[in-house]
Amino acid sequence: MARIVFMNGTLVSENDAKVSVFDHGLLYGDGVFEGLRSYGGQVFRLDSHIDRLWESAKAICLEIPMSKKEVSSAVNATLEANQLVDGYVRLVVTRGAGSLGLDPNRTSHPQVIVIADTITLYPREFYDKGLSIITASTQRTHSAALSPRIKSLNYLNNIMAKLEGLRAGCVEALMLNHKGEVAECTGDNIFVVRSGTLVTPPSDAGILEGITRGAVIELAEAAKIDCQEKTLVRHDLYTADECFLTGTAAEVIPVVEIDSRSIGNGVPGPITKRLTADFHLMVRRVS
Ligand code: PMP
Repeated sequence: MARIVFMNGTLVSENDAKVSVFDHGLLYGDGVFEGLRSYGGQVFRLDSHIDRLWESAKAICLEIPMSKKEVSSAVNATLEANQLVDGYVRLVVTRGAGSLGLDPNRTSHPQVIVIADTITLYPREFYDKGLSIITASTQRTHSAALSPRIKSLNYLNNIMAKLEGLRAGCVEALMLNHKGEVAECTGDNIFVVRSGTLVTPPSDAGILEGITRGAVIELAEAAKIDCQEKTLVRHDLYTADECFLTGTAAEVIPVVEIDSRSIGNGVPGPITKRLTADFHLMVRRVS
């Protein structure tokens, strides 16, 4: 059955959801996006995603031609139109069609698109046994070049690292920043547990400030698990007791091997399991 897509104020069949070949989103990756989840008919942290979308757009001087309230309603309407109770939503705003040059001033009509579909999580086995990842040689974009805090349509940096991971047989890959510090994975934030303390790289390590990351920090506080945002290097990962990743699509997923080294006992640890369980409860709670 054809999916229903929201495009610039109307719900249309996916067959009619078309973007111009002159759209700078296509030509230059000029645009911003969000990935959201709905659980039991309720979008998880919708306001936070909308705020981050607006922040990303502001950072690239892109004016979204709808209000936050209208875009939030569009997200809910698209889920409803596709009869999705538990679903994944991709919210995209492109710069719009323009001339073939880079100049964003010569574009018009930013496209606001909402796509909703079912979600394919990693196989169950990865959640039970944990992931093996590698460190990619592709560095995370220097924030002076393009801030990793902007969730832009330009994901080539992450895609290059993802390719390295895939070629090594890993579904995720760790990215370091230009200083050699741990930043994040290609589509997920990273946490480690060291001597009972949860540690994750700070925003200035050059990361996307993940909404799942924020939720997990809150859950750790509620569970009285000490949590710190601190610079990490690979040594801290290799010698950690536990490691896990967070992201809207992946949720909370354990990592048991990095660069062929076993992390902790080589199995998902107790704090990872506790926070995973707490996260599942949190997303199902009516907020
Ligand atoms: N880092 C990157 C680079 C991402 O693309 C994402 C989202 N897929 C995340 C981290 C996780 O962010 P969130 O929890 O908001 O999905």
